[in-house]
Amino acid sequence: MNLMYKSTRSAAIQVTASEAILKGLSPDGGLFVPEQIPKLDLSLSEIAKMSYQETAYEVMKLFFTDFTEAELKDCIHKAYDSKFDTEEIAVIKKADDAYFLELFHGATVAFKDMALSILPHLLSVSAKKNQINKEIVILTATSGDTGKAALAGFADVENTKIIVFYPKNGVSPIQEKQMVTQKGNNTYVVGIEGNFDDAQQGVKVMFHNKELAEKMDKAGYQFSSANSINIGRLIPQVVYYIYAYSRLLKNFEISRNEEINITVPTGNFGNILAAYYAKQMGVPIKRLVCASNENKVLYDFFRTGIYDKNREFILTSSPSMDILVSSNLERLIYQLTGEDPIQTAAFMESLATDGTYTITEEMQAKLSDFAGGFADEQKVAKTIRRIYELDGYIIDPHTAVAASVSHTYQSASGDQVKMLIISTASPFKFTRSVMNAISPKYDSMTDLTLIDELSGLSGVKVPQAIEDIRSAKVLHTTICAKDKMQEIVEEILKI
Ligand SMILES: *Cc1c(COP(=O)(O)O)cnc(C)c1O
Repeated sequence: MNLMYKSTRSAAIQVTASEAILKGLSPDGGLFVPEQIPKLDLSLSEIAKMSYQETAYEVMKLFFTDFTEAELKDCIHKAYDSKFDTEEIAVIKKADDAYFLELFHGATVAFKDMALSILPHLLSVSAKKNQINKEIVILTATSGDTGKAALAGFADVENTKIIVFYPKNGVSPIQEKQMVTQKGNNTYVVGIEGNFDDAQQGVKVMFHNKELAEKMDKAGYQFSSANSINIGRLIPQVVYYIYAYSRLLKNFEISRNEEINITVPTGNFGNILAAYYAKQMGVPIKRLVCASNENKVLYDFFRTGIYDKNREFILTSSPSMDILVSSNLERLIYQLTGEDPIQTAAFMESLATDGTYTITEEMQAKLSDFAGGFADEQKVAKTIRRIYELDGYIIDPHTAVAASVSHTYQSASGDQVKMLIISTASPFKFTRSVMNAISPKYDSMTDLTLIDELSGLSGVKVPQAIEDIRSAKVLHTTICAKDKMQEIVEEILKI
């Protein structure tokens, strides 16, 4: 049976998985969601015997039903190969009385690789399936990690171009260096004078610009999105939750059907939503703890039922979570309304015009699967130092937000169910914040020296992706005002 996808904002739209992957966003501005969340057809004990790639196939075949077995397996094997520095692909480490799921063993040492290594292949198969003869232009706004992971995924993939916008002063120096040194004849990187939300907004406006779409069409181009709203990114993220649970089983850390809690450092709400999908597929997850940094819109939302982006935007040491509009939350809102597209569209309209909306009490009552928490900069630094001193394990600031919130959640609630903390970036991408948290003596050292210091301290080899940027040449220097994004795109595409 074919699983179809519908829009969160109107009942009229129904597309196949490959069409949803190609389009990214629904034409009505809504997000595509599966008509229902499929149940796993294997037990978790059976999955415990499988590799990451085999698990990926078992999960994705349930969602991408219009792909053949050969197509899907081909995508999976091209994505999860030796670009990852471990055969396990995702690795569980024990520290601080919790399990850390390290999702940063891919090409760009960030968790975005988990989905962005496969998206280009899913897109390319989807284009063939739908007889698309246009060149696909990937337009992406990034708060740091997505940009590089998308660039790496799409570089020199035939019939694609990728244009990445990032906030000029809103990413770490290493993140910026990673992006502006990207090779590939089809890659473009642009810094904007604004924050991540400005970049994301600019991209959204271009996606909805009919005139631009016509111009593109004439020139043989079609937009698609690599942002975490694309189901071609969301679904591959469900895989590692199922895989992680099955590894805990395999290693006798938990017993069959034992419930676990999961804390996810959250920005755009994609990663934690994937965990929620895994729970609905049958993984015994008790509670999903949504961890925010000082941009704690989601924490306030879970506490009060009011989503309100009208507040100061704070730059923190966890830039990939510096977000005031979490796009993927719309999919949860849609579920909370009982899949009512009219109500969902009204909330999103209110968000667009007033920057806020309030969900009903009935909807709020359905939020009990979630808990929210936030960590300020001081707690993040303290957590990094504490876990290093306790176990010699060094985590990056995003993961530290989650580790701090996990602690606060456990002591406030008394909930002692085993905790899986999602580790989303290598500490080597954020050496400055990480090393300063451990000791003030690193203050005077250069970023490049800190890389070696961190390696010595943690006993972890410097990842190849970090070694590479030490010597790489800057290839992208374009900077633009936040209201000039479309002009830049037209210039790049010569339209
Ligand atoms: C993107 C990102 C996040 C946030 O993930 P979402 O899916 O946007 O919630 C957290 N940490 C890091 C390092 C990231 O790159």
